Amino acid sequence: MNDRYLAFANSNTGRRLVGALGLPAPLRLERWMAGRTRPVEGALLLGGQGELAEAASAVLNKLTDQNFVVEEGRFGLPRWTAEGGPKLKALVFDASQLTRFEQLIELRDFFQPALKGLGRCPKVVVLARAPESTRDLVAASVQRSLEGFTRSLGKEIRRGGNVQLVYVGEGAEDQLEGVLRFLLSPKSAYVSGQVLRLAACAEKVRDWTRPLAGKRALVTGASRGIGAAIAETLARDGAEVVLLDVPQAQDALDGLAARLGGRGVTIDITSDDAGERLLEALPDGVDILVHNAGITRDKTLAKMSDEFWNAVINVNLRAPQVLTQALLDGGKLHDNGRVVLIASISGIAGNLGQTNYAASKAGVIGLAQHWAPTLGQRGISINAVAPGFIETQMTAAIPFTLREAGRRMNSMGQGGLPQDVAEAVAWFAQPGSGAVTGQVLRVCGQSLLGA
Ligand code: NAD
Repeated sequence: MNDRYLAFANSNTGRRLVGALGLPAPLRLERWMAGRTRPVEGALLLGGQGELAEAASAVLNKLTDQNFVVEEGRFGLPRWTAEGGPKLKALVFDASQLTRFEQLIELRDFFQPALKGLGRCPKVVVLARAPESTRDLVAASVQRSLEGFTRSLGKEIRRGGNVQLVYVGEGAEDQLEGVLRFLLSPKSAYVSGQVLRLAACAEKVRDWTRPLAGKRALVTGASRGIGAAIAETLARDGAEVVLLDVPQAQDALDGLAARLGGRGVTIDITSDDAGERLLEALPDGVDILVHNAGITRDKTLAKMSDEFWNAVINVNLRAPQVLTQALLDGGKLHDNGRVVLIASISGIAGNLGQTNYAASKAGVIGLAQHWAPTLGQRGISINAVAPGFIETQMTAAIPFTLREAGRRMNSMGQGGLPQDVAEAVAWFAQPGSGAVTGQVLRVCGQSLLGA
C-alpha cells in the first residue's frame, strides 16, 4: 500500500536518478479500471502456424480494436511498428506445431524482432499442446521445453510485462477466449511465468461485461484485505455476494456488504457448528465458493507452540475442507460450481518460520488437486490461487528488511495488490473456467521463491 520506492522510481526526478544510478526501476503496473471494455488496448501480433492459430485468431479479433497480423512463414516486426506506428501491446505465439528440436529456433525467430516493438506492460502468451497428449518422445520434450522458455522470457521482458504458457487440450480450443481475456488484459498484471492447462468444458460466458450474472458467491475472510477485494470484484462481474468473517469484523463486513448489494454472515470458520451455520446462512446454496480466510502464526519449528500450529492448520486448511464438505453433503454447492482456495507461494517454496503456514497452504493445493476429479463429475472446478507478496495489513506487519525483500524479489520488482489476486479468482469463477481444474495459479509477479 505504501511502497515509497515504487512511487519515487515512477516520479520525474526519481526516474532520472534511478536511471543514472543504475538502480532497479519497477514500473507502475497497468490495472483494469472501471469503464474499460477491451482487454487489449493496442496492437497485437499473432505468430506461429500450428493447429491453434485459427481458433486464437478468431478470439483475438474480438479482444482488440487494432489490426493484428498472422505472419506467413517468415516472422518480423509488423510493418506499422517498424515504420514508427503503435507499439505492440500483446504477442501470442502458437507453438503447437513445434515437434522437433530444430524447430525450437522458431521461438527466437518470432520473439526476437517482435520484442523490439513492445510498448508498456506488454502481455505474452504461448499456446501449446500438453506434452502428455503425445506419445512421440521428442514432440513431448519440445512442448515441455516451452515451460523453460516462457519462464525465462518472463524474467527478461521487463517494462512491467508478463509471459504465460497455456497448454490447450483436445476439444478445449473453444475455451481460449476466457483465458486470453484474462492473460492479455491488465487483469493479470501481477501474474507471470505461469503454466495453465485447458480441458474441454461445455459452459460458456454469455455476457463478458457481467460474466458472473445470476451466480451467488460466498467469500470467507471478506471484511478486509484480499477477501474484500475478491468480494468487490465478484460483485463487479455480476455475482450476488455473501461475505463471511469473524463476529469481531461485523461492522466492516456489513458496511462492505451493503455497498456491494450483498449480505454479511459472521461465523468463526473453526467453530464446531460452522458447517451447520453456513448451511443455514445459504438456504439456496452457492455457485462460487472462495476460501480466503487465513492467518499466520510464525515461529521456527523449534519454538512452535501447539496453539500456533493448530490455529493455522484449523483456519487455513481444516476449515476449507470441512465447509466445502458440509456444502456438498447438504446439496448446497450447485452443479458447475466453482471452488477457489487461497494458498500462498510459501506452500510451494516453503518459508523460514512458517512450517505451520506452508504446510496449511500446500495442503490447500492438495485439496484442489485431489478433489478435482470427483467434483469434475458434477462440472464443479476447484483451483488454488497462490499469492506472493501482496500489499495488505498482513504484509504491512512484516519487519522492514524482510518486507523490502518480499517486495523486490520478483520479476516486477514490487508487491502485488489485493485486486491482482481478486482478478485471478474472478476468472476462475467464470462459467467457461470449468476448463481449468485441479491447478495452482501463482499471483506473485514471478517471485524468485519456488518454481
Ligand atoms: P487479512 O489478515 O487482511 O484478512 C484475513 C481475513 O480472514 C480477516 O478478515 C480475518 O478476520 C479473517 N479470518 C481469520 N480467521 C477467521 C476465522 N476463524 N473465521 C472467519 N474469518 C477469519 O489477510 P490477507 O492478507 O487479506 O490474506 C487473505 C488470504 O490470502 C489468506 O488466506 C492469506 O494466507 C493469503 N495470502 C496473503 C498474502 C499476502 O501477501 N497478503 C500472501 C499469500 C497468501
